[in-house]
Amino acid sequence: MNEQDKFWNERIETMSRDEMRHLQMGRLKKQLVYNYQNSLFYQKKFKKAGMRPEDVRSFEDFRSVPLMTKDEQRSAQEESIEEFGHPYGRTTITCAPIEKIIRINSTSGTTGTPTLYTLTKHDVDVANEMHARKFWMAGIRPGHAILQAFSLSMFTGGLPLSQGIMNVGACVVPVGVEGGAKRVLDFIRLTAPVAIFGTPSFALYLIEQCPKLIGKEAKELGIKWIFTGGEPGGGNPEVRKLLSEGFGGAIISDQTGGGHAFQAAECNEPPESYSGLHLMSEDHCLLELVDPATKKSVEVENGAIGELTLTFLDWEGGPFMRYAYGDTIQVFTEPCHCGRTGIKFRITGRADDMLIVKGVNIFPEAIRRAILRFSPEVTGFFRILLDRPGPLVTPPLTIRLEYGTMVKKEMIPSLEDKMLKHFKEDLRVSPKFIWVPQDSIPRETKKTRLTEIEEGRGTRE
Ligand SMILES: [Zn+2]
Repeated sequence: MNEQDKFWNERIETMSRDEMRHLQMGRLKKQLVYNYQNSLFYQKKFKKAGMRPEDVRSFEDFRSVPLMTKDEQRSAQEESIEEFGHPYGRTTITCAPIEKIIRINSTSGTTGTPTLYTLTKHDVDVANEMHARKFWMAGIRPGHAILQAFSLSMFTGGLPLSQGIMNVGACVVPVGVEGGAKRVLDFIRLTAPVAIFGTPSFALYLIEQCPKLIGKEAKELGIKWIFTGGEPGGGNPEVRKLLSEGFGGAIISDQTGGGHAFQAAECNEPPESYSGLHLMSEDHCLLELVDPATKKSVEVENGAIGELTLTFLDWEGGPFMRYAYGDTIQVFTEPCHCGRTGIKFRITGRADDMLIVKGVNIFPEAIRRAILRFSPEVTGFFRILLDRPGPLVTPPLTIRLEYGTMVKKEMIPSLEDKMLKHFKEDLRVSPKFIWVPQDSIPRETKKTRLTEIEEGRGTRE
């Protein structure tokens, strides 16, 4: 690999659409036979549709295979633990024999029991290749150190990410958020990384804490890249602006992924604009869209919006097959400035997080964006208070938020008027604001949930 090379894997990253579809079809046919032969879970799926894997001769045919969900995966996992005493039984999506599984990772479990990923050596190699493509694209080269400020657990942003960073030849400093902001800042001084990787909320928190904890501004730390992931804020223009300014002009490079074969990242071309994430793993991950409500297929064409649905290709451990993932995305199929030919997309929301206020659909991330427009009069930390789980919200939509240190109490009414006007025009909702001083809202260092259920609320005001 030459430092000046633009692509980690030029053949795959610049392949024509036709060639890529051809490669995917070949792998899909083999994968379906493999899934059918090795998993009772998948056999049931085919039987339910009255199909056999050999019946799938086109992407069109494949749409008749039933979707799967996280809840189904979770119950299959439980069934297996009960029946076999381990989570890799034939009733699950784990297709490889137990002796080939070398790593188990899991989701962070913010929405229930964690779901497990079972990987073979082959799968780990593929996942590492995808990390390398992403970091190389961002400009990371051997000699660069990246401080990992995610939770350092079996969560996909933990050990798997460390391995991925090493695979590009860069140096990983796996500090983790568990030690807190002070420890992260101390290790930035000790190890001089050029980049940090964490949730956007934690990176914002570091900007706030830096002067208090180490007596200097975050912009003096020499950080050139902020890699964000774990929550949607990294694609939010207001969050990006605050992060970049706070870290002295750092490049904000967002990433997302799931199940290890699905990995996506930004190319940052043209610079300073956000044009979505490149799906970096199309050779191992077939992306489809379905309507979030009806679950009917939506054509993957430029500008289309739908729920992200994933099928892993050339994958051994626990391959997803038409996994309706929960995120809603908008896809872009036009060629990118950077020369990559694959699908790009932007996450528009997590289907589970959507709220409906008087018939208006609204995502917490859109609320964050609206609030951050008023920074520094607001700190940007807030919670949406619900009296019961969404999506239906008893009006008014109630938001607890912090005013900035420079705002005096008597200034709040005029600030609130400005904000209400913006919320009404931009989001078509009129929230009720509950104002609290800076540092009243807990700073979470892992995944930040922007909504909170408060018992006893629900009285109509
Ligand atoms: Zn690009």
